[in-house]
Amino acid sequence: MFCDLHMHSTASDGTVTPDELPAMAKAAGLSAIALTDHDTTAGLPACQAACETLGIAFVPGIELSVDPGVRPGEEHDAPRRGTLHILGLFIRHDDPGLKQIEHRMREARDSRNPAIVAKLQELGVSIDYREVLDLAKEQGTEIIGRPHIAQVLIRKGYVKSVQDAFTRYIAQGKPAYVRRDRLPATEAIDAIHQAGGLAVFAHPVQLGLTDPDELEYFTARLRDLGLDAVEVLHSDHLPALVRQYTQMAQKLGLLTSGGSDYHGSRKPVDLGSQRVPFAMYEQLFQARRRT
Ligand code: AMP
Ligand code: FE
Ligand code: FE
Ligand code: ZN
Repeated sequence: MFCDLHMHSTASDGTVTPDELPAMAKAAGLSAIALTDHDTTAGLPACQAACETLGIAFVPGIELSVDPGVRPGEEHDAPRRGTLHILGLFIRHDDPGLKQIEHRMREARDSRNPAIVAKLQELGVSIDYREVLDLAKEQGTEIIGRPHIAQVLIRKGYVKSVQDAFTRYIAQGKPAYVRRDRLPATEAIDAIHQAGGLAVFAHPVQLGLTDPDELEYFTARLRDLGLDAVEVLHSDHLPALVRQYTQMAQKLGLLTSGGSDYHGSRKPVDLGSQRVPFAMYEQLFQARRRT
């Protein structure tokens, strides 16, 4: 039996609606799924209802973008670090603290996205922010991110693919990149716990700490802040990394998780492709907070 504990819907930057994901999961032979949209719980009720109809276990989740410094004040002292995402699994979707964070993150996005578009215009790309808003509206999302801007660039013929848009324009370090405010790790982990969830260090490879000792030190600091688990199985993790992260989790006394990080047609990754053992879901389910 298998599960997939990391995926996105049209509520953020996936291309499949929350109510269609469970049927796809069932067809892929999955017995449990978590919906983990970026900074929003908007898709959870519809996904849960469809899971109940189909008899698949549902894990309400969220994926928060976190500042890669782990202590307040340390946030910008981390030039070599890349992306830090924390998944909340088994969260209450209507938790007021989490709602407040969603609101803050949306504001951060809404001030950053027009800045990206302005930079693109400076680079000679003829794009209007209105076009991005229209696309988001078409897809029914309120969480607008770089993948949506990328799609507008594809439509207008400036780039061939989402990947192309990132590597030429909007990835970190590229000419139209704009940083957005992110949550301190403490706040993300506390909010997830307050909402009854488990905090999971998502796709550690994306942090960019290639030295295993440095990554272990960093993860131990996250554990000090309350981290519950490490996502060991992920589409970006080669087998050697899966082994490294599994050993690290064991050593630090953390649980393990896994998922495909499915984004629909936006990324060349299939739902359920990580073949995550159902036992991983069961262990997390046992550990979840019952409040
Ligand atoms: P944003 O939330 O606006 O910062 O956009 C981040 C999202 O863009 C991530 O969740 C990924 O889905 C996608 N993304 C980030 N980096 C890349 C990349 N290099 N290539 C393709 N997609 C990416
Ligand atoms: Fe994404
Ligand atoms: Fe992520
Ligand atoms: Zn994700």
